[in-house]
Parts: sequence; C-alpha cells; structure tokens
Amino acid sequence: MKFTHPYLHSDKTGILRDAEQAIEYLKLDFDEVFRRTLTSYQPDAEGRSDGATGSDVERILAFNAIGKKDPVEYTKPWQEVLEDALQIERTHRDEEYKERLTELQYHVTRQAGTERAFTGEYWNEKRAGEYRCICCSTLLFTSSMKFDSGCGWPSFHTEHTDANILRVEDHSHGMHRIEVRCSSCDAHLGHVFNDGPASYGGERYCINSASMIFEEQDGEQA
Ligand SMILES: [Zn+2]
Repeated sequence: MKFTHPYLHSDKTGILRDAEQAIEYLKLDFDEVFRRTLTSYQPDAEGRSDGATGSDVERILAFNAIGKKDPVEYTKPWQEVLEDALQIERTHRDEEYKERLTELQYHVTRQAGTERAFTGEYWNEKRAGEYRCICCSTLLFTSSMKFDSGCGWPSFHTEHTDANILRVEDHSHGMHRIEVRCSSCDAHLGHVFNDGPASYGGERYCINSASMIFEEQDGEQA
C-alpha cells in the first residue's frame, strides 16, 4: 500500500488553488464545497469561528490570496474577519522584521527612513551581482543597471524587469518626490528622480543600501 502526503510542501493557499482546479474539473460549486469545511479549533456551538486562531487566520488569508471570500460563516462579517487577519499578519511580519533586520535596515524599509549619504554599504559597490530587497529577497536591480551618480547612494538607471517597483507620491519634508517601494513587501527603498542618464531614459533610482542585499555573481561587469 502506498501513502502520499500531497500537502506537506504546500500551504493553505496552495490547497485552495488545487481545489479550484479539481472543483472545476468535477463541475462542482466552489462555495458549496468549502461551506462544508471546518478549519477552526475553537468553533462555537453552531460551528462558527471568530476567525482569530492561528489556523483561522491562515485560512482567511489563503482565501484572500486567491481573491475569494470564505463561504464559511464566521461570528463576525467577512470584511471584519479579513481585516483582523491582515492586521495579525502585519504585526507578525513587523515582529519578524524587527528581529531579523538591523536597526538601520528596519528604520529605512519599514519607517521610510534614509541613510546618510556616503555611509551605506553599496553606494560605491562596483562588483557584478544582484541587488535584492533586504526584507523579502525580491530581485530589484543588477550591477549592469547601476551607475555612478556621485550622490552618495546606490544609483540605478533601470529596474529589473521582474521587480515591479511601486511608485508613490511623497510630499514629506516640504518636497514633492516619487518614493519607490518593493511591490512584494512594501519596503521603502528610496526615491526616483529625473536626472539619470538620458541614454537609459533619464531616470535615477536613488536607493538606500540598507534596503538591499547584494549578491556577487561570477561574470563580466556589464
Ligand atoms: Zn520586498
């Protein structure tokens, strides 16, 4: 007899994505199937949960991740249950960042701080390699996109095609600037200005070293 454990290497979002396919294949109704499931360890007499236990939170976030509302009835409305779960996730992530990052890395990425010019680890870094988000490892830039702007912060004329860096209007400190953030984890990275090399489109991503981790790679410096 052969046993398989299909979900040892997946999470609740993966289970739901598989379920979506299986349910479509079997021509069943997704909500009808999942209305009959129970994840909570602490349901009330009617089988409803307040959405606050660990397994509830994972379940709620998984439904949200696939863009669906959990068809199970909670003791509170879905919007409230979802907002609570997202808040728990934010707090959890924040604690994790505080523990893992240095004080400066945390201040820059999570509190939109700025390292002092010419003090960061990478403003003068010239080796070939990749620059990833310090919080979530998303690939942001490569050394071939870096140039020497003389400003004291790592400068890039282009972002990596998969980086998807977010741009946000920033009116702080009496200025109007365009802030750039990691689209995966919302880490503050720096700002983008219009004084970059014209041959690459004229932009300069002015990025804090503290928001990135550099990985050296073999190969020619482009
Ligand atoms: Zn990130």
